[in-house]
Parts: sequence; structure tokens; C-alpha cells
Amino acid sequence: MSERRVAKVITGQPTSDGAGVRLSRVIGTPALDHLDPFLLLDEFKSDKPGDYLAGFPDHPHRGFETVTYMLAGAMRHKDHVGNQGELVAGSVQWMTAGRGIIHSEMPIQKDGLMWGFQLWVNLPARDKMTAPRYQDIPPGKIPEVALGEGVRARVIAGEAGGVHGPVEGITTQPLYLDVTLAPGARLSHELPAGHNAFAYVYEGRATFGPPEAAREVATGQLAVLGDGERVSVAAGDSPARFLLLAARPLREPIARYGPFVMNTREEIAQAVEDYQRGVLLG
Ligand code: FE
Repeated sequence: MSERRVAKVITGQPTSDGAGVRLSRVIGTPALDHLDPFLLLDEFKSDKPGDYLAGFPDHPHRGFETVTYMLAGAMRHKDHVGNQGELVAGSVQWMTAGRGIIHSEMPIQKDGLMWGFQLWVNLPARDKMTAPRYQDIPPGKIPEVALGEGVRARVIAGEAGGVHGPVEGITTQPLYLDVTLAPGARLSHELPAGHNAFAYVYEGRATFGPPEAAREVATGQLAVLGDGERVSVAAGDSPARFLLLAARPLREPIARYGPFVMNTREEIAQAVEDYQRGVLLG
């Protein structure tokens, strides 16, 4: 079986979003505009309230999915049709914005560590105007599996070690794993050939790829994986934690403007107009 090699290593860029939340943007920058169907990856991590208290007040989305995975801290989510919930440490919210949602994500805490990730996953043209859908997954509903000695993974979406993640019915068939390697541990994991894949290291460092082409990836760096059927990872003498994602590329034109991601400029103009007229739900 062919091993995936590291095609590119990207370092996240400090930026701010929402009402001034400091974060590191890893996908959705000049260095990596997108990795079809992944449109954006942000990591937010701070124990300084000034970095996160402003939160993400009301803003719209249309045409894709937002996936929030919390490691520490808690945010309250509310949308314009009255849905609300708490995004607590260890939970995932997979939100299919579809034809439109206006929502806010605001910190519940006043101090302490706030740490998590937001990923944007594109929707195919035929699903961009679908009805919005939430999959709110509490921490206890995300299975954790051993994938060999010293290797543990939380399975958010897709399958690992014979266990399926709780997120279902996503067209791009995503794999979303949160992997922890003990010092010296190794993982070899199958990834469907043809699916785009990346690993984002958020603690420690790890080496990705076959022995003859292994690349070390440090905290805050993302490895774009070339095509193949499996990926090999090894930790050094300290533990490593990383997200491992893969999904079927859509290979459709992308027209992107802020919180709207469609296929054509006309559809973007329509989204802006719908939002301004207050009829985002259509
Ligand atoms: Fe949002």
C-alpha cells in the first residue's frame, strides 16, 4: 500500500476574527488558500481574557459547514431561529450552514484557558442551499480508541480502529481524528486514496511520511499529505497531539466572500443581497 508523503508544511499565521479574537489561521491564508474541501482552519488558544472575551457576535454563513472542536473553555452558541447550546471542552459542533444561518459564539467564561479549533468544510453545489442542520456532539459521545501502543484517538467523524465517529451524513465523507501519541509511539493509519488529507500538530512534534521521506512537523504547523493509501506518524521523545483530517475533494469552482462560499460571483452577490434584506433563509 502506498504511503502518503508530506507535500508541504504550513505554519499558522496570527490573526484576529470575530470581534477581535486572537487566533492562528492555518488554512485560508496566502500560504494555503484551501485544501479542497477544507476552506479554513483556525486554532484559538489563550488564557488571556482580552484575547477571546469579545467572541464572535452575530454573523452569517452560507454554502458550507463550520466545525467547532473545543479542547478547553466553553462558548455559548445562538442562532437567529432560536437554536442554542453550549460548546464545552471536548465537544464538537458540526454545523451545516446550507442556505443560511446567522449566529453568535460567545465565551461563557470570564477567565481561564480557551482552546479549540474551527474548521470550514465546503458543500457541493447541489447542497449549498440545503436547510441548516446541527450536529451537537457532547464530549461523552465522541469515542476514544487505542490505535496501537501509546496511540489514542478521539473519533469525531469517519472510522478508526473499527469505531465510527458520531458525525454522520456529510457528503465529503470526512475523517476527523484527534490523535495523541506517547513518546516513541508510532501510528500507521489508512486514508482513502484520492481524498485530500492533512495533519495539524497542536502539541509537541511528530514525524510524518515513510522513513525515506519523513518530515518533522512542530506545534502550530500543518502537513499537507500527498496522495496514497496510508499515513505513518511517529512521536519523538515527548508526547505529540495532532488533528488528522481527510475528505473527498469536490473539484468545483469556489467563489468566496467573507462568510459566504458559493460556486459563482452571482451566487455570492445573491447571498449578500439576501443577508442585507434579512431573508438569508430564503
Ligand atoms: Fe460562525
